[in-house]
Amino acid sequence: MSVAFGFDFDHTLGVDNGLERTGLVEYAAELGRPLDVQRDPEWIARLDALLTEFRNGRIARAEMLARFAAAIGAPPDALDGERWKAICIALVDRLVRPVDGAHDLLASLVDRGIPVAILTNGWTPLQQRKIARALPGFDDALPILVSDVVGASKPAAAAFEALVGALGVPRDAVWYVGDNPRTDVAGALGAGLRAVWFDWEGHPYPGDVPPPTLRIAALRELEDAAENTIAP
Ligand SMILES: [Mg+2]
Repeated sequence: MSVAFGFDFDHTLGVDNGLERTGLVEYAAELGRPLDVQRDPEWIARLDALLTEFRNGRIARAEMLARFAAAIGAPPDALDGERWKAICIALVDRLVRPVDGAHDLLASLVDRGIPVAILTNGWTPLQQRKIARALPGFDDALPILVSDVVGASKPAAAAFEALVGALGVPRDAVWYVGDNPRTDVAGALGAGLRAVWFDWEGHPYPGDVPPPTLRIAALRELEDAAENTIAP
């Protein structure tokens, strides 16, 4: 029986410690409108909500930056998309780290000849740099599908269709692993894939989302599952 794995990146294989939020904060300072996010933590929630809309494809980069400009009292066209991208890319080495066990898990799957790919919402140069930083070597070895190039964002079925195509196995042979019940688990199940919920940050599972095929609390559990039950 053929088996393949697709992975979410952020909070599944790597963390970026609020990189895009930090990019906005640094850009505001550069424009002479510094934000004190430590003293005013409401800013963190506000910026994260704005970035989630952008990352999941609901608003374009220009719209996100225009709303941020309004929030900091700058003119609507004060922020340049290319400058913000450059600020974010420059933050990768400082902020991006692998999740425990990510390297070992991918190495073990690849060693066993199991097809592996990454499907992530976001924009291509940044996601690729983050993956290269967290998992050196795998950025060249694995297909990496980023929503801006795929033309569809999770949880849309079209995003998972692209993953199935990249893995080259039947859809019901694909196990998609992610931390987000709505975008990862519900999206994968809705597209006919199997879904692994990576439950490691203490968030409750929403009652209105179908249960995952498998729940893990550490990536090494997936290594065991792959060896003993999923692809023995
Ligand atoms: Mg994630």
